[in-house]
This record gives sequence, C-alpha cells and structure tokens, in this order.
Amino acid sequence: MNFQDSTFQLWLLVSGLLVLRYVLVAGIPFLFFYVLSGKKLHSKKIQAQHPATIKIFKEIVYSFLSLFIYGLGIWIFVYWMEQGVTLRYNTIPEYGIGYFFISLGLMIVLHDTYFYWTHRLIHHRYLFKYVHKVHHQFTNPTPWSAFSFHPLEAIISMGIIPIIIFCIPWHQSALITFVTFMTFYDVYIHLGFDLKQLRMGHWQNTAVDHNYHHQNARVNFGLYFTVWDQLMNTYKKLP
Ligand SMILES: [Zn+2]
Ligand SMILES: [Zn+2]
Repeated sequence: MNFQDSTFQLWLLVSGLLVLRYVLVAGIPFLFFYVLSGKKLHSKKIQAQHPATIKIFKEIVYSFLSLFIYGLGIWIFVYWMEQGVTLRYNTIPEYGIGYFFISLGLMIVLHDTYFYWTHRLIHHRYLFKYVHKVHHQFTNPTPWSAFSFHPLEAIISMGIIPIIIFCIPWHQSALITFVTFMTFYDVYIHLGFDLKQLRMGHWQNTAVDHNYHHQNARVNFGLYFTVWDQLMNTYKKLP
C-alpha cells in the first residue's frame, strides 16, 4: 500500500468514525424526541411547530460534509504527533489525576472563549453571508444541526484543537473525553426541547438560549457558558 492509499484510507476511517458517532449522538435524541414521543413531549418543545423535513435533510447533509472536513484534519494532527511538537504527555501519573481533570476544565473554558469570539467574528456583516448563513438557515434547529456548517465554518471550528494541544499539557484520554463532551453538548443546545433537568444555572448556555440565537442572531453567542455573553452585553435571558 502506498502513502496515498494509506492516507486516503485513514481519512475515510476517521471520517466514518466521526459520522458513526454523530449518527448515534444526534440520531438517538432525534428518534426519541421527534419521532417516538409523538405529542407527549410537545409542551417541552421550544418552538411549537415541527421543523420542515427538507431542513432536517439539509442539516444532515451539511453535518456529514463538516465531519469529512474534520476527517482531513487528522493528517495534520498525525504530522504534529510524529514530530512530537505538541504538549502531549503519555501517562496520567506524570501530571497526576488532579491535573487530568483540571486540563479537561481548561479545554472547555478555552473552547468556550474560542467559540464565542469566532462566532462573533463570523456574524460580522462582511463574513456572515459567506460563512455562517448556512448554520442560521435552521431557525428551528434539531439535533442534526449540531455540525451543519459551511465548510469554512467547519475549518474555523477545528481551530480549537491546535490551541489546546500547543497551549496546555494534555493526555489523549482527556482530549477524547473533551471532544466527546463537546459533541454531546452541541447536540443538546440544538435539541429544540427544553429539559429542566439539564439546566444548572444562570451561567450555563442552554438549549433555550441557543435556540433563541437561531431565531434572533443578535444575542446568545456562547457555547457552554453565558459568561462571555453577559460580560459583552450580548446575553438575552429567557424564561
Ligand atoms: Zn447553532
Ligand atoms: Zn450564529
């Protein structure tokens, strides 16, 4: 097998795994909330109407495209690993279990900051129509819209990975846990249903907050937290 074959197969494998994870993490909530529950959970639906089928189909197509773009990122990631230029460490005792959890928290805080500011950037009138308009066509989002980005937005969203791996000492289990948590949280904020059990406080960016961002693109730019929105006066508190 030559280099081209093996890298192509690696891209297909990684993209396939990302698609499989997306289908499970977004598909199971979609099946439960939008198909099997019928009208039983209607009172928890944030927007009363059901999203159009064509919009759901588009959400899935754009998300698949994003995941295959994320799959391309594996090449540069593998290159950095081979060069040993990141702050990766191999065994958890090197930094201790305490740091392992601190690093997870740092990844989430760094990502929330990166997301808020790049999100503000792509809302700029010169960039919005070229980059972020695709995601905002889904004014009544479903779990399938978690990765429904324009390819340029998918590339921008990958920028958090080099920031993490070059800025903080990281263990591969922490990085995998972070990426998995991010996927679940992305699906949660696009769920379209308000689950009071998952609300933890005024500082948390909820499914209601992000759903409102899809309807009114001027407020609620955060991902996990509302802290940046509150600091920058872009937060709209919803009931
Ligand atoms: Zn969104
Ligand atoms: Zn937006």
